[in-house]
Amino acid sequence: MHLFDAATGLNVLLDEVPVDPQAWDQAPRQVSIALTNTCDLACPYCYAPKLNARLNATRVVGWLRELDDNGCLGVGFGGGEPTLFPGFTSLCSTVASQTGLAVTFTTHGHRLTAGLCDELRGSVHFVRVSMDGVGATYKRLRGRPFATLLARLADVRRVAPFGINFVVNADTIGDLDSAVDIAVKAGASEFLLLPEQPTVHRSGIDEDTATRLREWVCNNDPALRLTVSAAGADGLPVCVPLTGELPSEAYAHVDAQGVLKWSSYDLEGVAVDDAGVMAALHVLREGRGAA
Ligand code: SF4
Repeated sequence: MHLFDAATGLNVLLDEVPVDPQAWDQAPRQVSIALTNTCDLACPYCYAPKLNARLNATRVVGWLRELDDNGCLGVGFGGGEPTLFPGFTSLCSTVASQTGLAVTFTTHGHRLTAGLCDELRGSVHFVRVSMDGVGATYKRLRGRPFATLLARLADVRRVAPFGINFVVNADTIGDLDSAVDIAVKAGASEFLLLPEQPTVHRSGIDEDTATRLREWVCNNDPALRLTVSAAGADGLPVCVPLTGELPSEAYAHVDAQGVLKWSSYDLEGVAVDDAGVMAALHVLREGRGAA
């Protein structure tokens, strides 16, 4: 039995309580939704599709009501840049008030003005801010001043607890110590390592950098929660509380064209149609959706 509090993010597992498999929740524990492929940055390692696509907010709310009814615990909005989605604050507010889902989003942070932060407060439970490298590395990779990002972090704190997402590759690994220090000082509660994944244009994290990352993780004990993406966890000392959980019970992704997939890196999936997102999930689970 898994108890979850969306407001605090507290998870309680009662493994002494047997639950009949017939009563198990059918939805994945967590979903991510790419609201739009649009982004105003051009990071060289970006894996978001460049096809111009965005979802309809009414459809998204319908899917999330359905997922909530079927036991999903949280949604992470992303993109592209989700704050460029028209009506983003209204969407977050609707989902937070009409479902029991924890609402999070991942952002480059540069659009999080004090005004937008004020609009989002109360409608979001956690914010993930991407910060791949610091100082000159950040400026070179993201094309924006690092000082501007730091100024935005001061406002993000007023929205909700936040974490830092850090893509690890040969360009950024040398900045890990500084990035963690900055994250702690800025008030972040989590530091998410994202070892760069291969795409059609890039080969992903190289073996030397992956070795340096493993050594760094084993030799550091940062003053905030250290986490790693499932796709990049190989060889790292991770805690797996839900040992019996299948990947298809843990997570699913809907891209900006409304296609349900097992991860944002997948090229194929099942289009969510009028039958709803749970119907698409059943098709995906049966393996009938791969073209
Ligand atoms: S901010 Fe994110 S979505 Fe935008 S280009 Fe960079 S990696 Fe891609």
